[in-house]
Amino acid sequence: MEHFNTITKLLGLKDQNITIQDLIDCETHKEIIASLDYDAPNCPACGEKMGRYDFQKSSKIPYLDCVGYKCRILLKKRRFRCSNCRKMQISGTPLVKKNHQIPTILNQKIAQKLIEKTSMTKIAEELSVSTSTVIRKLNDFQFKTKLNYLPTVMIWDEYSFKKGKMSFIAQDFETNEVLAILDGRTQAVIRNHFLRYHRKVRECVQFITMDMYSPYYQLAKKLFPHAQIVLDRFHIVQHLSRAMNRVRIQIMNQFDLKSIEYRALKRYWKLIQQDSRKLKDELFYQPTFREHLTNREIRDRLLNYSEDLKQHYDLYQLLLFHFQEKNADHFFALIKDNFKQVDPIFQTVFKTFQKDKKKVINALTLPYSNAKLEATNNLIKVIKRNAYGFRNFENFKKRILIALNIKKEKTNLVLSRC
Ligand SMILES: [Zn+2]
Repeated sequence: MEHFNTITKLLGLKDQNITIQDLIDCETHKEIIASLDYDAPNCPACGEKMGRYDFQKSSKIPYLDCVGYKCRILLKKRRFRCSNCRKMQISGTPLVKKNHQIPTILNQKIAQKLIEKTSMTKIAEELSVSTSTVIRKLNDFQFKTKLNYLPTVMIWDEYSFKKGKMSFIAQDFETNEVLAILDGRTQAVIRNHFLRYHRKVRECVQFITMDMYSPYYQLAKKLFPHAQIVLDRFHIVQHLSRAMNRVRIQIMNQFDLKSIEYRALKRYWKLIQQDSRKLKDELFYQPTFREHLTNREIRDRLLNYSEDLKQHYDLYQLLLFHFQEKNADHFFALIKDNFKQVDPIFQTVFKTFQKDKKKVINALTLPYSNAKLEATNNLIKVIKRNAYGFRNFENFKKRILIALNIKKEKTNLVLSRC
């Protein structure tokens, strides 16, 4: 039947031994009735010529969607029997690998989708396969750590893999390539990972950017004897901004819950955190004050509520300014001059800055930061959000590696994997 031939082509069924017999429109999907048959082979046991026997009960093979419909192939496979030793054999086809239920082409599709930011359940649903099939495919991806190379500039960061569990991630600053995703961020975990590299390789690392987290410093020095630690700019600002926020809350809580001061300080917290140079001058109706005010005017009102708040705010803004202007001398002079007057919340932050002065200065003078890693973190967030609870760290890690490291080779990868 000619037109079934066309369907064969359309579906990309390359096996000449498969003949489509019918196409059934079911309400929810389309069913392709086909059979697999060819000349009897020789018996694998005794070598005699086998004979055609019957057809096996149809196997249901999920297939790629066709013109918007889910498709499955009901394939009847020929069975052969040896008249000499009675051995039975079922016909084989490259459409589905031996002992597999999923066609090769669908496997390729799964691989392709794993690179995208969809959850594994979603992939399974879209392709009408089970989640375990998707997971099995995920496990096919192998990532080898290149133990003969480490970049000059490395970025370290951490993120929570699931509630209360931190993971460690290291990336190449230049290429963004993920060098390590580790289950846990303890010194032992990190040490064991990097000690797999020869000392000569580790000596190539010149800079490591990271958050202020002192257990890492010693470890990094030991593992990478030639590396300087650069504190990440984003994290430095974050520490200042958190201190400012906590001071605001502390002051806010001194007011009555129903007072305008309390409500305004609660509602407009962002205006305090924000770099004052970025405050907008547009007039907007402000329900809290029941009048039209600009952000700058609101900020001034907030600061008028408390002399304490105003002092901390001014200092905070000045620190931000010097930091952004990369003026390390002014930045540290300001910290030194104000240390005694500030709230203990700020004192704690200042102490760490002073203790790690060299590393802060590196952040101000060197062009390296974790900015790129922030993109990774966003990707991790997306993957996590889409992947309801990665209970299994290895699966989680693989998804991230696939998404980050393989993007470039996307097409090649999908084509070469079967
Ligand atoms: Zn035989």
